[in-house]
Amino acid sequence: MSDTIGIYIHIPFCRSKCPYCDFFSMRGNESEYDNYVEILIDKIEYWSKKTDKTVDTVYIGGGTPSVIGTENLFNIIKKVKNCFKLQPNPEITIEVNPESGGKIDFKKLKGAGLNRVSIGLQSAVKEELKCLGRIHNAESVKNTVELIKETGIDNISLDLMLGIPEQTKENLKKSIDFCVDLNVKHISSYILKIEENTNYYKNKDKYNFPDENSTADLYLYAVEYLSKKGFSQYEISNFSKQNFESKHNLKYWNLDEYIGIGPAAHSFLNGKRFYYQRNIESFKNNNIINDGIGGTKEEYIMLQLRLKSGLDFKKYEEVFGEDLSKDFLNKANKYIKSGFMEKTNDSIFFTSKGFLVSNSILSDLI
Ligand code: SF4
Repeated sequence: MSDTIGIYIHIPFCRSKCPYCDFFSMRGNESEYDNYVEILIDKIEYWSKKTDKTVDTVYIGGGTPSVIGTENLFNIIKKVKNCFKLQPNPEITIEVNPESGGKIDFKKLKGAGLNRVSIGLQSAVKEELKCLGRIHNAESVKNTVELIKETGIDNISLDLMLGIPEQTKENLKKSIDFCVDLNVKHISSYILKIEENTNYYKNKDKYNFPDENSTADLYLYAVEYLSKKGFSQYEISNFSKQNFESKHNLKYWNLDEYIGIGPAAHSFLNGKRFYYQRNIESFKNNNIINDGIGGTKEEYIMLQLRLKSGLDFKKYEEVFGEDLSKDFLNKANKYIKSGFMEKTNDSIFFTSKGFLVSNSILSDLI
């Protein structure tokens, strides 16, 4: 647990709604973007008075932050920098989609401190992008990456999706090769989940989703192939070149504090968890929903085990002043024997096949 803090800012707008998406996002227009940024500016000031901690990561996510344009993004970063105490050269990330990212003045944002960009590629295969309802193509992602690199920002992450209807290993390889050829530093690779209230859920019979075994195969293939290409896995769904892990996202798994600003954004501050509802009006009125005490032993175990490095016994003892329970380790033995977990003298962690069933193992262990 660190004595610095991260800031997450949610931009709830997208050009169109993807059929699988359960994030809080909607279509908007220029005046709605500007009005929303005004609310954000007000709330950034409010939250800056609630902590004395130094900010070392800022993450502007969504939604699609790039739809609100350079000027709005510039003003948000500037406001964070003016209000909070910032560490020199903090990690500042913006999520970008290729269709609106191409219009962003990255040079101007770099001047404000932007040094990391995460792009929603999802797939480099035309048919898969169509099936995902995405309005970009691989070429536009390539152009956006080049545009960003021209400004000198080389900490670029691409998102990939696993378990897309009809997805084959060959196509997944094509998508990974596409990322590798662009020489990005980070790749997130999420397994598609069919969430209720999405178009995919309503029409799930119309799509040929890979079954659980095929999706597991795609995941294991991605882990192996990415590692071969120099991207080490550091979390269930995250891979990077050395020293290019997302510092902001590591905060969530290391139980460090963060303040989430925006509808549907979650926070962990002074040992408490709370969030804003999925509603701009409620955010404007600053209706904060308590989500209980955070930082418990159970939470720590669960979050650390999302990391490839796993749960470090010494660190656990430093944080909680006691050893990890014998009961936990005894129960974990059966998963170690069956190859889902591994244990050394210092730590316990999931193997790649263990990550695939980590939720059910954790509910048995904790
Ligand atoms: S662009 Fe991203 S946030 Fe927006 S609807 Fe699609 S998946 Fe959801």
